[in-house]
Amino acid sequence: MCVESGGEESSPRLVDRWGRVAADLRLSVTDRCNLRCSYCLPEDADTWIPRQDLLTPAELGRLCQVALSLGIRKVRLTGGEPLLRPDLTEIIHQIRQAFTQSGLPADIALTTNAIGLASRLDSLVNAGLGRINISLDTLDPDRYFALAKRDRFPEVAAVLEKLPGSGLEPIKLNSVILDQQSLEEIPDLVRFALRRGFQWRAIEFMPIGPLGDSAVTRPHASDILARLQECFSLTPIETDPAAPARRWNVAAGSDHPAGIIGVIASESAPFCATCDRTRLSADGKVYSCLFSLSFVDLLTPLRQGASNDKLAQLWLAAQAAKPAGHREIAGAGRRTYSLSQIGG
Ligand code: SAM
Repeated sequence: MCVESGGEESSPRLVDRWGRVAADLRLSVTDRCNLRCSYCLPEDADTWIPRQDLLTPAELGRLCQVALSLGIRKVRLTGGEPLLRPDLTEIIHQIRQAFTQSGLPADIALTTNAIGLASRLDSLVNAGLGRINISLDTLDPDRYFALAKRDRFPEVAAVLEKLPGSGLEPIKLNSVILDQQSLEEIPDLVRFALRRGFQWRAIEFMPIGPLGDSAVTRPHASDILARLQECFSLTPIETDPAAPARRWNVAAGSDHPAGIIGVIASESAPFCATCDRTRLSADGKVYSCLFSLSFVDLLTPLRQGASNDKLAQLWLAAQAAKPAGHREIAGAGRRTYSLSQIGG
């Protein structure tokens, strides 16, 4: 099989046996994080990808070229915390050298906790970063510390003031809704986001990671929407079926401008049937689903000199085996496994 760029129609695509076509690559660049959010990374986490197994910027660029030759158009950098990679600018630069089947560079986005972003913002944008999602679950410094086990709220709050006008719009602020306290904080988070011109998105807790097998009942999208409707005037927005969030326009209020909010209902209304994602871990393993326990290793063949064609064949086979939905994966969400390992 040839994976050189050619006419889009005849080019190979990352299709699974249910007919879904991947266009969006979630690229984890590290499994390490500077926070220890109780639901994501246990405080005592001590097993990390060995440094020599982390993909280098050149390797990440090469694998992105393979992915783009298979129909990927969007690359979202995640982790772990991507800003912990001192070579993140070089990684973006390398990815910008790859071209989609239409001959365009990929749309490159970053998901981050924003720690350390201030000093790197300009270089990331200059390297080709196009969009950014910031993860922030609370505006209360004490709750931030209780959730993330690190006292970094003031720094994050300061960075957020630098983002308007950075060229990364639309900037999205993502908050995991964990419990009643999160539900209560929703109006403040929405107003905070809208006043800065950000979109705000609520993420339903997914039963994966350290709290994945807990019996606690977590808020559902319906609870989140009910809370939003108590405080805001919402009008639904027609949404692309592959997009994870249902979205609403928020009318301007006396203390906030108009804007857009979204709710990602991964659990109560999974979007598996339209999922267009493929995932690559920081050590070069393709996971076709966030909840997958199986993977296809690309690092070993890459370092043994495999051609782009060979790597493409491996990626196609990995994606073909994508499960119909994450609920079909036996053992998914087990306690020892977290989004920070595979790339959230
Ligand atoms: N460190 C980066 C960040 O903070 O955005 C990227 C990685 S982090 C794993 C990506 C997102 O996954 C964060 O928004 C985090 O809150 C979310 N996340 C982690 N575990 C989750 C879970 N069990 N349910 C829902 N979201 C989760």
